Amino acid sequence: MRVVYLFFALIIGINTVYGQNRSDQEALQIANDVLSKMTLSEKALLLHGDHIFSFPGIKRLGIPVFYPIDGPCSVRPELSDGGRYIHVGDTVDCATAFPTLSALSATWDADLAFQFGNAISNEFRARGKDMYLGPGVNIVRTPLCGRNFEYMGEDPFLTSSISTPIIQGVQQNNVAACIKHFALNNQELDRFAVNVTASERALHEIYFPAFETAVKKGGALSLMGGYNKFNGDWCCESEFLLNKTLKQDWGFKGVVISDWGAIHSMTKAMKAGCDLESNFSREYLNIQKAVNEGTLPVSLVDEKVRRVLWMYAKLRMIGPDAEKRVKGELRTEKHKLLARKIAEESIVLLKNQGHILPLDKNKISKLLIVGKVADSRLTIDINAKAVNDLLGGGSGEAKPLYEITPLEGIRHYLSASSQVEYIANPENYKDADFVKKVKNVDAVLVFTGNTHEQEHEGEDRKDILLPKGQDEMVRAILAIRPRAVIINQSGAPVAMPWEKKAKAIVQNWFNGQENGNALARVIFGEVNPSGKLSCTFPKQLSDVACHSLDAYKSKSENYIEDILVGYRWFDKQGINPLFAFGHGLSYAKFKFGKIKITQLAEGDSIKVVVPVTNQSNRTGTEVVQLYISEISPSVLRPNQELKGFQRIQLAAHETKEVALNLSTRDFSYWSEIEHGWKYNSGNYEIRVGASSRDIRVSKEITLKENFNLLQANELK
Ligand code: BGC
Repeated sequence: MRVVYLFFALIIGINTVYGQNRSDQEALQIANDVLSKMTLSEKALLLHGDHIFSFPGIKRLGIPVFYPIDGPCSVRPELSDGGRYIHVGDTVDCATAFPTLSALSATWDADLAFQFGNAISNEFRARGKDMYLGPGVNIVRTPLCGRNFEYMGEDPFLTSSISTPIIQGVQQNNVAACIKHFALNNQELDRFAVNVTASERALHEIYFPAFETAVKKGGALSLMGGYNKFNGDWCCESEFLLNKTLKQDWGFKGVVISDWGAIHSMTKAMKAGCDLESNFSREYLNIQKAVNEGTLPVSLVDEKVRRVLWMYAKLRMIGPDAEKRVKGELRTEKHKLLARKIAEESIVLLKNQGHILPLDKNKISKLLIVGKVADSRLTIDINAKAVNDLLGGGSGEAKPLYEITPLEGIRHYLSASSQVEYIANPENYKDADFVKKVKNVDAVLVFTGNTHEQEHEGEDRKDILLPKGQDEMVRAILAIRPRAVIINQSGAPVAMPWEKKAKAIVQNWFNGQENGNALARVIFGEVNPSGKLSCTFPKQLSDVACHSLDAYKSKSENYIEDILVGYRWFDKQGINPLFAFGHGLSYAKFKFGKIKITQLAEGDSIKVVVPVTNQSNRTGTEVVQLYISEISPSVLRPNQELKGFQRIQLAAHETKEVALNLSTRDFSYWSEIEHGWKYNSGNYEIRVGASSRDIRVSKEITLKENFNLLQANELK
């Protein structure tokens, strides 16, 4: 991981030299210079959006119009102020549709995340955009949240590890990343009103880390305040969240922008640290009046305008050498292939008894595909007569030139001599004709899952059961053909009450325009699956912490499960999940060798080395995961926490060593007494494995107060 970061840092460093990114200091000088020439009305103008996705420019001062836009997985199509598509049926605003972020997080691939950020921002520039409204780094607290497909799972370390390179990749192209939604915006239910309370520990250990690393490591230029309330204050009006935590404690130099319509009081928001008001609220229209009446200090207005201009200067929107700004390219072949690669790496092989998968293309002359999901689109169809607003799930929508559904991808992958029959909704599973078809083909693929009809912004799902009689369909088909392969496609966990009966199960995601091509390559073995779950798949909703404790509510919500979110809860309660956090199989088989732990220098990082061998005859990739467990903690601690991982590709029978470094912070918890990170000396178990429930090797270590390993024999 850290090697990868070094690589990013190098790229960013090189760019600074060649002038793509301006230094903070230079940007500040430009900002101060422009600010000194501005009138009060010009300053006020700059702080309020004048169109759904634009902020006014000021010609006299050479400030161009500023264009932020969604979205997380594609450049969003152009909208009018009324939220209608401007170019229905037209291709001018089509962009590459990459997989959504829940898919990207299932790759556990920081390098790929960087490439994704870089490619999408390249398209942003080609469409003339300045800010990418993402990535969304809210933690998946409940599988019901309608926007889980836009987030990166239940673990703060994984979310931080994937979001940070996205931000770096985005910003390398002079596009600002806007991390969202700060903070505790973990549900869509009542999102405009819900008041959330959570302990200091839960904030710092679970809900803040991805925002903190985005600021400190990622250098995010912008952050979006959420719709909800925290501790009684609207997030965009929370002194604690914005001024104290973000700006003072984390040293955020960028711009806080309100979510669309999230400001309720101009004075409160301005004073609490919200810099820009997006178009939907109209509170900031009163800035000039408030200054003239003496209720708002002009120094506060200046501070915000300076931040905005600083960001503009960083992006090369203002200041000299504007021609050095990245121009960008839309829908390139390279972007298309990247979209496919992300999709391929994200697909999770959940179960594969008897090596049913991969299917051998040469042995399939008749294939049956059942289930409407197999041919359901997830993006806007440019050929559709009426464009359904829910198609992309809300602000995360995408409008690519094409989308390959699983059915299309598989049909295309198989040679013309293979017959593929598709039954979207079997009417009667006992029908003799249907039974005969299921029995007499070479293989059966059953598709289940959600589309954006179930998973979308603005609403949560009601439960995690599959909609529209799909469980019944799976059961019926498995009864006729036990070796049928079940492929679930969703952005978030679903229950699979028939799991025991199925031999082969694949988890596919909302995988963008190349979805079907990627899936076909995995099913037929051209790509060896390597995705790992970024969320626990529960057997039933009541197994999830906040549901078990009846702590998922509208209006007022107290996060009483505290730090025990996701697998932390399942582990502590001893609940067996359907599929565990970090789970994902391969067509290859990996063996983990003996774990070696050393200290790099006195009181410095601890290095964990594990050799991994591919015992199979085919190349494969394993995601080696490291969890830390404190053996006798003095405070409540999760049984284990993810603190390192690395993807490693191994040729047949190859062995490579995986090395992961750990720092004091990785062993620390947030102390509510000291209001800071606290490291305890003592005994810890270092666990390394293929998932949170598949630990292959472990070793107990003793750490002294100065963060030194006790065992002298390890200090080599
Ligand atoms: C969403 C944001 C989005 C914004 C602009 C809001 O409703 O919560 O995530 O960026 O709209 O579309």
